[in-house]
Amino acid sequence: MYRKNAWKKYPDKAPVMAFAEGYKKFITFGKTERLVVKESVEMLKAHGFVDGNEVATLKPGDKVYFLNKNKNIAAFIIGSKPLSEGLRILGAHIDSPRLDLKENPVYEANEFALGDTHYYGGVKKYQWVTIPLALHGVVVKKDGTVVDVNVGEDPDDPVVGITDLLIHLAADQLSKPAAKAIEGEALDISLGSMPLDDEEKDPVKRNVLAILKDKYGIEEEDFISAEIEITPAGPARDYGLDRSMVAGYGHDDRSCAYTSLMALLDTEKVETTACVILVDKEEIGSVGATGAHSLFFENLIAVLAKKMGSTDALFDARTILSNSKMLSSDVSAGFDPLYPGVNDPKNAAYFGYGLVFNKYTGSRGKSGSNDAMPEYYAWVRAAMDEAGVHWQSSELGKVDQGGGGTIAYILGNYNMNVIDAGIPVHNMHAPMEIVSKVDVYEAYLGYKAFLAA
Ligand code: MN
Ligand code: MN
Repeated sequence: MYRKNAWKKYPDKAPVMAFAEGYKKFITFGKTERLVVKESVEMLKAHGFVDGNEVATLKPGDKVYFLNKNKNIAAFIIGSKPLSEGLRILGAHIDSPRLDLKENPVYEANEFALGDTHYYGGVKKYQWVTIPLALHGVVVKKDGTVVDVNVGEDPDDPVVGITDLLIHLAADQLSKPAAKAIEGEALDISLGSMPLDDEEKDPVKRNVLAILKDKYGIEEEDFISAEIEITPAGPARDYGLDRSMVAGYGHDDRSCAYTSLMALLDTEKVETTACVILVDKEEIGSVGATGAHSLFFENLIAVLAKKMGSTDALFDARTILSNSKMLSSDVSAGFDPLYPGVNDPKNAAYFGYGLVFNKYTGSRGKSGSNDAMPEYYAWVRAAMDEAGVHWQSSELGKVDQGGGGTIAYILGNYNMNVIDAGIPVHNMHAPMEIVSKVDVYEAYLGYKAFLAA
């Protein structure tokens, strides 16, 4: 159903609202890619999926998942058709913009203990000050012990935060352009203000380090091999007096990750092998071992082929990938009535109109875009309409206004058909992003329809 408000499809809103409850739990827990992978494994196991590395051979109907370094995961339901006919792939990213602690982060200034950060992904820096922030991640000690850190989510926990100037003294600051009003090096978090009762140097910092030592058994030097992410603190909430939306951190792209995963979990048998891949590092260019550019996925398809009896698995992996169809499940810019000027209204994504397809991402003259094949887009349209899914088409804003990328072109490089398909978001990359519950639900239905088509 193209460009029709999906709420009207549900005289009884209960299924949409119930689905959103599961989603809110998912993003409330999944503040980092590691945490999303952790809960994804739990959900997969609960639905009968097993660790693919523990099975020697695979046959139609088998359900397996493969972990990559605890930050990237792929799951499959093996179909009745031969693998060589390709896969149906739902791919989403599970990293979100945030601040990371630097390797040598803790310092004392004017009797405050502070933590130096380095922002991750595209952030409007002024949005990250004067809000409660949480610390999530791991510290890995030299003996290999991995210490989990989680501060700021339990209502009894303290939170941290970044200060901003009082308006009374902000004349200079407010005359700067917004990109300069808060500089990257000013995004340091407040860790404490209470000195130890001695005459040594840096008593406030040493007190904070003593607390960390006491609670986690870590030394200052251990931050070198740590991955501490600073995210907005607190749960996802209903948004709007009609509760039609969800306010939360990380809808980009965990809304698509959750709906993709749920589509797979709620699929029993498939003809074409179904796959969900959740990747890390999209917000910084899909780089590294756990990003979409990694050989992990390509190698994994060879492993799959081998477990299904291939004698030339690396070669067969190429055939499988090039015969595959993919939805690059990533969020889109929702049309915002407060900022109508940045969109072409005929080619914008609207809240409530369901799953958004983007033939183009990239920017300006389609630079960096995947530009889906019209033959494939026609097949996708037919699949959505056949299943009664509400969907819409969109470009990311006016052609000269900016742009953005997804993982679509990376998988497209395997010669597979890929199109971007996701959920419209307001406040994208802000600490509090907004989605419509009915778009989340239609995305889930659309992804399910894609796997079954
Ligand atoms: Mn995204
Ligand atoms: Mn993004």
